Amino acid sequence: MKAGNISVQTENIFPIIKKFLYSDHEIFLRELVSNAVDACQKVKTLERLGEIAETTETPKVEVILDSANKTITIRDNGIGMTEEELDQYINQIAFSGAEEFVSKYKDAQIIGHFGLGFYSAFMVAKEVKIQTLSHKKDAKAIEWTCDGSPAFTIAPLEKTTKGTDIILYLADDSLEFNEEHRLKEILDKYCRFMPVEIYMGIETKWEEDPSGEKDDKGNPKKIEVQYPRVINSTTPLWVKKPSDLKDEDYTSFYHELYPMTFEEPLFHIHINVDYPFNLTGILFFPKLKNQMEVQKNKVQLYCNQVFITDEVKNILPDFLTLLHGVVDSPDIPLNVSRSYLQADGNVKKISSHITKKVADKLQSMFNNDRADFESKWEDIGVFIQYGILTDEKFAEKAMNFTLFRNTNNESKTVEEWKEKIGTTQKDKNDKVVILYATDENQQHSAIEMAKNRGWEVMVLTSPLTAPFLSHIESKHNDITFKRVDSDVPEKLIEQDNNQNSALSEDEKTAVKTALESWVDGKKFNIQFENMSPQDPPMIITENEFMRRMKEQQALGGGGFFGNLPESYQLTLNTNHPAVYKMKEASGESIAKEALALAQLSKGLLKGSELSAFLQNAYQRLNNQ
Ligand code: ADP
Repeated sequence: MKAGNISVQTENIFPIIKKFLYSDHEIFLRELVSNAVDACQKVKTLERLGEIAETTETPKVEVILDSANKTITIRDNGIGMTEEELDQYINQIAFSGAEEFVSKYKDAQIIGHFGLGFYSAFMVAKEVKIQTLSHKKDAKAIEWTCDGSPAFTIAPLEKTTKGTDIILYLADDSLEFNEEHRLKEILDKYCRFMPVEIYMGIETKWEEDPSGEKDDKGNPKKIEVQYPRVINSTTPLWVKKPSDLKDEDYTSFYHELYPMTFEEPLFHIHINVDYPFNLTGILFFPKLKNQMEVQKNKVQLYCNQVFITDEVKNILPDFLTLLHGVVDSPDIPLNVSRSYLQADGNVKKISSHITKKVADKLQSMFNNDRADFESKWEDIGVFIQYGILTDEKFAEKAMNFTLFRNTNNESKTVEEWKEKIGTTQKDKNDKVVILYATDENQQHSAIEMAKNRGWEVMVLTSPLTAPFLSHIESKHNDITFKRVDSDVPEKLIEQDNNQNSALSEDEKTAVKTALESWVDGKKFNIQFENMSPQDPPMIITENEFMRRMKEQQALGGGGFFGNLPESYQLTLNTNHPAVYKMKEASGESIAKEALALAQLSKGLLKGSELSAFLQNAYQRLNNQ
């Protein structure tokens, strides 16, 4: 038996390791199982290189819980370690690595807490044993024991099978891991796609009795058979060749990834790059339906099939985190702090590659099956808008397939709409005016009026509409968006404004003066328009710019402008008989009622004004 000290400068490194990742102690299992997987894969590599004779033995890792003795054993039939190697990898390198790691990053938030390695065992164990036999000829089995202080012992051991057992004696504060279901849960989270079979526990299956016996009904008798349970699938879909896969394979993989989700994904993108960086993965487009709340299904980041995290912010552009699926890359540096990641060259390349792939896929769907693409728009539109708002490279490409749907369900890109309405819907600055509605019910009367004039009205319901439209206007200075119930540009009105006016200029002045004494002149800016007698007597509209400012303020931005005053355009129809009557003093009640109706149709009649209006109407019913 031999004893020694692990080469550390500070004595108290273990308490630091133990405290360091307090909330994430469970990763010890990922670290130890992935070491075991690596050891198994190294055997295969050596066999391939001809350095050792090929065996028929299947590489495997076992996780064995002995809850009576409070131990967890991670067993592999991998390459094992000689005493020299153990000294080099465990006593010296791994530990000095861990020390450096901890001192450097103890305050930083490390991606997936990766790279803590073997010593993460001490987060949960009061004592750890390594029992190992190297694959090398004439190697001797050894047992390394360490109780969490920098002292360790090495003793000879009886072990005839190559490979390594790591035995953890659970610390009293870590007994949550003394439960099979807890270990299964951790393995499911981190190890379910690792490339070597991992066994834990037993599973029971019902099988036909090999004796051929029949049951009472004459059917073959079934008996319970127990098998060691494999917890992972070693070749997940993303490592396979896309050309070998069918749509169904992707759908069933989606459900394997997110077992609690019953909705089907809309489509997928399979990423497979090996130069200049390594990147594989499958991204699924879920049905977003204008919802952007925090999702339960997140993109999962893997490193060589080892689950790292589903907090992929800083690794993927924000808008891509709305997708589902997996991204696997050994080229994302994981043992660095999150803030460092964004600046990392590889991460930048990887994320711009993924962005490009996503844009290309959408473009090819748009080109190849326009009808299908249009049918999916409702579900992916908000995603594309978000991408346009937050990612310049994506925005450049995406404008070519960003659709605007009108009230008749026709969908076109901005360029296509410009072609269609470019001559009929222009303002005095020669900009194409694109009218839109955000709520077809609420803005119904305004939509009808616009349609009667032959104007196109887009329906934009996404929560991102306001910033999205401003963004497009900033990039395309030949178009401007106006909500259909806002004050529509003069030139647009002029075009169909060839009606005569039933009011002379003097009469208009009289009406205006009278009206100003009856209604709040600060709130309403009165103007006249020659509409048809069938159009309403009064219409309230709001300045597009002011309304957008208010919306932005409501979203918490731009408090800066102070409290914006309520101000509207009140347009009087010169050809409506009710307006004609307003020039006389007796017109007051007519004017107030017309205003109430205009407010009502805009959803602006509220509180005491609404009650008074209703009272009046009920009164009239009584008098009938
Ligand atoms: P890392 O895995 O990041 O290199 P670790 O501290 O986890 O760091 O492990 C250090 C080294 O110890 C490994 O690189 C490997 O050489 C060796 N090792 C750890 N676990 C095993 C194992 N189960 N079988 C064989 N070698 C192992």
